[in-house]
Amino acid sequence: APDPAPTRGILGRLLGRDETPEIARRVLDDEMLEQLEELLIAADMGVDTALRVTANMAEGRLGKKLSVHEIKTLMSDEIARIMEPVAKPLPLYKKTPQVVLVVGVNGSGKTTTIGKLASQFRAAGKSVVIAAGDTFRAAAVEQLQVWGERAGVPVLTAPQGSDPASLAYDAMVKAEADGADLLLIDTAGRLQNRGDLMEELAKIVRVIRKKDPDAPHNTLLVLDATTGQNAIGQVKVFQEISDVSGLVMTKLDGTAKGGVLVALADKFGLPIHAIGVGEQIDDLQAFDPQEFADALTG
Ligand code: GDP
Repeated sequence: APDPAPTRGILGRLLGRDETPEIARRVLDDEMLEQLEELLIAADMGVDTALRVTANMAEGRLGKKLSVHEIKTLMSDEIARIMEPVAKPLPLYKKTPQVVLVVGVNGSGKTTTIGKLASQFRAAGKSVVIAAGDTFRAAAVEQLQVWGERAGVPVLTAPQGSDPASLAYDAMVKAEADGADLLLIDTAGRLQNRGDLMEELAKIVRVIRKKDPDAPHNTLLVLDATTGQNAIGQVKVFQEISDVSGLVMTKLDGTAKGGVLVALADKFGLPIHAIGVGEQIDDLQAFDPQEFADALTG
């Protein structure tokens, strides 16, 4: 049954019923640190990263009495410190068309993210072309066409089941002919057969390099925050089968488990280019480490 009480975050869980964070005080001892670790692990941060955060919090402060507000701030600052180096918007290059390959498992939010990105770049005055490279999923192609219409961006498609690499090549030709700034290429996300997917991605890369040896300029891995620690495994797999250059984390609106983002930053150090916070076209935001850390610990 759903919990009728509002979700209590980390801060809330440290407080008794009638306590306020500025007044309630706690000793930062081993027991307290263990409790904090458990709260971080429950937020899907993973054991290693949770331990690092609490160890850093304790440094020079073990046994000190602090207000709950101070403890929360310490924790949130530690998390923000881990996240700061990875908060980087997608770099834009002078050379065009800039080719962005978008990878990720089905359902992670690739299609939606491509639509949102296209819209943002359009709003910034860039011209964009989308290639519907998951040629096996008719629904994905249709979805992309809808997003393309919303964003005012042409979407290149190919008949169902046709070769995504040849579509990607055609899209390169069109993007170049149109003088487009960006080409966003959707890809299949069937991990059931890793070997096939690897071959498919490798072929796309091989073929677009015939037009531009530097392409793709970015390989964006889209991850679903609600899958928690599974995201770690997905980064590992996609690093094996493609040249992941940055991440977009979707569905951060629907989860108290965004902690996996901290674990990802800690483990892989890949740039987080944007976060998805809803299903609408404007629900893609730059990643703000302090805001994220405050929300996670609040
Ligand atoms: P794909 O299979 O990787 O292309 O995934 P889709 O783009 O089709 O997204 C799968 C589902 O997740 C859809 O219902 C989307 O509306 C939803 N979705 C994508 N991004 C977000 C997000 O940031 N927040 C929320 N709440 N839903 C999202």
